[in-house]
Amino acid sequence: MLKIHSTETFGTQDWPWIRFLVFLQGCNFHCLYCQNPDTRNHGWWKEMSDEELIAMIEKEEA
Ligand code: SF4
Repeated sequence: MLKIHSTETFGTQDWPWIRFLVFLQGCNFHCLYCQNPDTRNHGWWKEMSDEELIAMIEKEEA
């Protein structure tokens, strides 16, 4: 199971194309300029299987 912090269906930052973004929860690093410090928290996440995540992405792609 994957620990999902959040997803974004219209990611346009840092790259020229539109992307489906998946933010995972529970990062153990503490990079000084982290753009998503709330993903470092280990206390909350939504569990999702690989198959569920792929199905979600394919649904957005259609
Ligand atoms: S930038 Fe943030 S989320 Fe990415 S590896 Fe560093 S601490 Fe983790």
